[in-house]
Amino acid sequence: MESAHLPTVVLVRPRTESPLFEAHDHFRLLTDQLAEQFPNARFICVPFLYDATGQSLATAAIRQWTCPKLVLSSLSPRAAQWLFHEWDCDEPSRQDSFHQVELYTIESLGPVVENFLKTHPPAGEATTSPVSPVSPIYIDETLLPRWYPIIDYDACIGCLECVNFCLFGVYTIDTQSRPVVESPDACRNGCPACSRVCPGGAIMFPLHADAAISGQLDALTVARQIQEHDTARRAREIRNEHLDQIAQPKTNKATDELDQLIDEADRFQE
Ligand code: SF4
Ligand code: SF4
Repeated sequence: MESAHLPTVVLVRPRTESPLFEAHDHFRLLTDQLAEQFPNARFICVPFLYDATGQSLATAAIRQWTCPKLVLSSLSPRAAQWLFHEWDCDEPSRQDSFHQVELYTIESLGPVVENFLKTHPPAGEATTSPVSPVSPIYIDETLLPRWYPIIDYDACIGCLECVNFCLFGVYTIDTQSRPVVESPDACRNGCPACSRVCPGGAIMFPLHADAAISGQLDALTVARQIQEHDTARRAREIRNEHLDQIAQPKTNKATDELDQLIDEADRFQE
């Protein structure tokens, strides 16, 4: 059977504080268990995708397979969906399904995979030939923590408020006059300001604690909240706080201590 026709399950490891070896042991075992239980699917286990880039091993591995995908991740389904879009990891037919994981255990994830495979059976030759299991793929890649906005283009109304509002050069405009997150790493760590001025409720920061910002709520609900509560003033305050942080001169502790030592040595020689 041609494995290209197999539905693919992407298991996204959460960003974890656990010692690396413990986390890896757990997720390797979980991936193996799932692959063993469901031989008619391909399993890819990747690191926390929000920290990836378009050039990461993880995104390249996912892009390789264009068959229907089930994505199991700790992010809200809306944020995960548009993150996949950002990395060109989904498919035009939008058959992907995104499931938010609370417990990374075989008991919790097994039924989710089973349901997905009922609606996405193997295609092509795989429907008529016996299925032989494919080895699960485990991407072992170290990713540094990142913080940047994700845009839900279904909700975006193209007003370009975000482009004008952000003073840190994160956004630009594409050839269709849509906003694009051109320089994600220019985004100020922890700043969610532009999500509060977006009239479409389209901007998400998946790691923010507020459900309206993390993508847990649908865009229409978020847009209503923004309209009702006039969140723009608070957004400007947050943005200005981050501007102030940049403007403040940085003290270099290491250099200060070195200067102090040199002064003391000079005094000693006198
Ligand atoms: S502010 Fe929101 S709706 Fe307006 S262009 Fe930006 S993402 Fe789209
Ligand atoms: S959160 Fe702040 S820094 Fe990041 S894109 Fe929005 S306004 Fe710019």
